[in-house]
Amino acid sequence: MDKKLSNVDVASLTILCYPDPRLRERSTAVEDPTDPAVAALAAKMFELMSAARGVGLAAPQVGVTVRLFVACPTGEPDDRHVYINPRIVSAEGWQTGEEGCLSFPGVCGKIKRNQVATIRATGLDGEEFEAVGEGLAARVFQHEIDHLDGRLLVDRLGSVARLAHRRELKALEERFARAGT
Ligand code: ZN
Repeated sequence: MDKKLSNVDVASLTILCYPDPRLRERSTAVEDPTDPAVAALAAKMFELMSAARGVGLAAPQVGVTVRLFVACPTGEPDDRHVYINPRIVSAEGWQTGEEGCLSFPGVCGKIKRNQVATIRATGLDGEEFEAVGEGLAARVFQHEIDHLDGRLLVDRLGSVARLAHRRELKALEERFARAGT
């Protein structure tokens, strides 16, 4: 069993907020996508994502630094998918739009992303599949894969947006500092 998954108490997982250092780690590949611990992690992540009204959630956001994210890229409840060891295989065109993140409550800003992104990933059944995302779905794919590399919303925001949200960012930093003491 995957070392990072065998020690996880799934029931106790919560969404971590900036600037938790676990959000900055580069996640490692899931060794066995068909391991029941992976399905249990994904189920809990769907629960947390829905409760927070998000459209995507990456494993490092719940403190498990493996390359997995869950998403409901069109917002339709029957469009939920688990993406294990995902990678972008092609991307084209550009879009600029408002983007937020469940690890940055109260912060959002305009971010430039590819308009179309094609990814390859493995499902819980161990089968590799390809998914083509356009518009919001492409944005979700790129945002979640950023998380797997430790790259965060704040890194993508322009200096104007960062300045506009300096109070919210400071409040998150202070809340994290208080929780750690
Ligand atoms: Zn995010």
